[in-house]
This record gives sequence, structure tokens and C-alpha cells, in this order.
Amino acid sequence: MATTPKLSQRPRILIVGGGYLGFYVAKALQKKVKVHGGIVTLVDPLPYMTYQPFLPEVMAGSIEPRHITVPHARNLRQTELLRGKVTKIDHATKVATVQGSDGESFEVPYQDVIMAAGAITKTFPIPGLAEVGIGVKRVEEAVYLRDQVQERIQFADNTPDLEARKRALRFIVVGGGFNGVETISELQSAARLAAERSQNITPADLDFQLIEAMPKIMPEIKADTAVWVVEHLRSRGIQVRLNTSLGDATNHHLKLTSMAGDNKGEVIDEFDADTLIWSAGVMANPVVRNTDFNIEPRGRLVVDAKLRAVDADGKVIEGAWSAGDVAAVPDLTGHGLPDNTCVPNAQHAVRQSKVLAANLYATRYGVGQAKDYKHESLGAVAGLGYGMGVAKIIKFPVKGFPAWVAHRGYHGLAMPTWERKIRVFGGWFNQIVAGRDVWDIRNLEDPRADFVEAATPPAKKAEAK
Ligand SMILES: Cc1cc2nc3c(=O)[nH]c(=O)nc-3n(C[C@H](O)[C@H](O)[C@H](O)COP(=O)(O)OP(=O)(O)OC[C@H]3O[C@@H](n4cnc5c(N)ncnc54)[C@H](O)[C@@H]3O)c2cc1C
Repeated sequence: MATTPKLSQRPRILIVGGGYLGFYVAKALQKKVKVHGGIVTLVDPLPYMTYQPFLPEVMAGSIEPRHITVPHARNLRQTELLRGKVTKIDHATKVATVQGSDGESFEVPYQDVIMAAGAITKTFPIPGLAEVGIGVKRVEEAVYLRDQVQERIQFADNTPDLEARKRALRFIVVGGGFNGVETISELQSAARLAAERSQNITPADLDFQLIEAMPKIMPEIKADTAVWVVEHLRSRGIQVRLNTSLGDATNHHLKLTSMAGDNKGEVIDEFDADTLIWSAGVMANPVVRNTDFNIEPRGRLVVDAKLRAVDADGKVIEGAWSAGDVAAVPDLTGHGLPDNTCVPNAQHAVRQSKVLAANLYATRYGVGQAKDYKHESLGAVAGLGYGMGVAKIIKFPVKGFPAWVAHRGYHGLAMPTWERKIRVFGGWFNQIVAGRDVWDIRNLEDPRADFVEAATPPAKKAEAK
């Protein structure tokens, strides 16, 4: 049976995805569009946007998971919110197909569409990766990793099986970009604290390994700063394996392959590990391939500097807009990716949202003029665990404690809405007063198990056996 939700009859501006771009565009346009008799509609399978730069701090127990999410319902009161996934856009007829949370599909007509579906984790066909690996893109993954690391340490603390203990204490992160480095640093910082408080293991028993296929980590920062990060991680007991890739992960048995030198392509090490974290980049959300828009070879939707979708001849497609991780946005500063498009990051997505909202408003309602998007990068900041960071601010490298303060200061203030900022800063203050809270919560995947056990009559249990 069709389950189309009750839809507004007003001319619609449809936003596909309520992350950075979609959330801010909806916030900027919702009231203004209503005044003109229209409606802003936002479709997302999730009821919140996620502040992804804080995922590693969630893994470390430094921020409560819900505090890095920004609920749509609380902040987008004038927006029509549809829970579901857009599966197809037919811009020729201006109709989107949405799969609702009950699995049923329905159609949504629109006047303007904004593609803001972001990126997904980019993977390669490595045997076993899909079965045993986990990404670092969602708050659920961050919560799982926080709990997994603590649970494995507690397991290792108790088991007499030395092989099982080694597997449990081995944590492998693949990908030495900003996210991979932040992930391994924060997790190891929390793991060391847990190990210090264990009875039978010490921080020296932890085996954290960062696997990077290139000869350098963190391409966003200068070579000598990246070398400093490698030395710092190694001084903390993290193995950094450059020129190395993951070749196989079947049944948690990992095989590492050399990426350089005489033994290129050969397996250089193999071992068992219970935890495999994949952080080797992102790619544009493949939903854009199910549209009649112009898609470039890397799978991103092609837009011009005013953030309007353009066809293969560069002609503007009326009523279609995009930016953020899903789009190839021209970088007019000349300091972007080699193909002169913007780097996919939040710094751009937030600023693009303002330009996109203003340009769409100007074009649709004839108020003001559409402008080009141009933003010179402010640099990058990364947390490397409690009290430690690395940053490039404009062009200047910053390391250690000052960089960590810059990381927390910048991201704390960039967190959307004052209500969320207060929660994040409040949590950090609690940490200073009451200490770090790195512990896990168990059985989130099967919370009913105890109740089912208690509520099942003995006869039925015997029958089930
Ligand atoms: C671990 C991590 C750390 C990061 N750290 C930084 C940092 O320090 N600095 C920085 O500038 N950037 C950082 N980034 C990058 C930054 O988070 C992204 O560039 C930014 O989120 C892009 O915004 P977006 O709106 O394009 O996509 P997103 O914010 O990812 O939003 C996409 C939205 O689309 C929704 N969606 C997906 N598919 C569909 C569909 N079919 N239909 C409807 N909705 C859909 C999703 O649920 C999501 O809400 C980090 C990213 C990660 C993963």
C-alpha cells in the first residue's frame, strides 16, 4: 500500500540531504521562502545533521555522541521534513522518488532541487574488508568504536589465551589522512587510559597500527609537519607503516602489502586483529548517478561557480543546485584539488551553503544578484588525543598543546547552534573537573536479550533447545 506522507501543495524547494550543506541552506531559506508562498522540504534518512569533525572525540569518550548531532526538528521549524532516502531525480519532469523509512517509495514534485547528499566512504574490493571492517563517517560507528576498544581491553585483561589477547589488543587503522590520524590518535589516547586502569595489561601491550599506502601522511599539511606527526605517533607507541596497503582481511586475518621498493606488491606482514578501521577517503554519494544531471568522471555533480548545475556544454540547468562533498565546485582561488575544484570539507560546505541559499533566492524571487563562490582555505586543525594536536593556520604550522587548543576552540565555535555549543563546551568543562570518561556501554546491538531471557517461560526455553 502506498504510504505517501501528506505533502504541502506550495511550490517546493527540495533539499536532498540535511548535513552541513542541506541543514544550513534550509535554515537560511525556510522563512524567506514561506513569505513568498513556497515551502522548503528537506529529505534525509536521519533526523539530524552530524558534526563529523568531532567523530574522533566521540570515539575517545571526550564528547557525548548526541551532542555532535543537530536535530532537524528543533532547528528547522518552518521546513517540511521528510524522513527517507531520495533514490531517483527526474529533473526533466521535476519529480524526486523517495524511499520512506517503511521501505515504501513515493514521489515528491518540486520547483527547485538542491543536491546535498554529501559523500560516502570510499572502499576497494579487498577480500574480507566488508565483513570485518568499519568506517568513520557516522556517529553510530564512532559509538561502536568507543565501546569496541574498551570492551576488547577488558576482554584482554581477563583472558588467559595469549593469542586471543594479542588479537584483542591490536587496532588497525587504514588511511593516514586527517581522519585516520585523528581516529588512531584519539582511540589510542583513550585506550592508554583504560590500560593504565587495568589489572593485567599495560599501555605497552596495546598494538595500534596506522597503515598508509603513500610515503607521507596528512597531505593537507607541510612535509616537515607530517614527519613530526609520524615521530610523535611513534613516540607514543603507535606503529606508522608508510608505503603499505591492506591486501586481505578475510576472517580478521590481515595481510599487509608493500607499495614501494623491490618488494612492491609482496605481502610483508600478516596477523590477526579484532578491530579493523577503514579511513581511506570518501567519494561522492552515488545517488547522483540516478539523476539526469551531468556527472564528472569522479562521480560528482557538475556545477558552476554560482553553484548551479550545468550540463555537458556548460549550460545552466534551470532549478537545479548543488555544493558540498557531492559536487565538483570550481575553486576560483586556484588552491584547490589538481582539477581546480574545492576540497571536500566542512569549511567549504558551510560557506557554500550561504552562497547557494542567497543565489537561489536571488534567482527564484528576483531579489539581489547571484554571486560566485570563492573561499581561501583558513588551514586545517586536528586533535591527536587529549592535550595534543597539529594544525596549519593560514600557512603557519602549529604543533602540540597550542594546536589542540586551536582544534577545540575552532570546532567548538563552529559547532552549529548555541544550544549544541553549550553542550560540547560543557562536556569538556566536566572533563577538566571530573576526569575523562572513556568507558563503554555494552549490548547496544541486543538490548532486549536479558528481558527476553527473563520473560520466556522455562518450557519454551526447553522447547527451543
Ligand atoms: C571523521 C571526519 C572528520 C572530518 N573532519 C573535518 C574537519 O576537521 N574539517 C573540515 O572542514 N571537514 C571535516 N570533515 C569533512 C566534512 O564533515 C564534510 O566535508 C561535510 O560534512 C560535507 O558536508 P555535506 O553537506 O556535503 O555532506 P554531509 O554533511 O555528509 O551531509 C550529507 C547528508 O545527506 C544525507 N543523505 C545521504 N544520502 C541521502 C539520500 N539518498 N537521500 C537523502 N539524504 C541523503 C545524509 O544522511 C547526510 O545527512 C570530516 C569528515 C569526517 C568523516
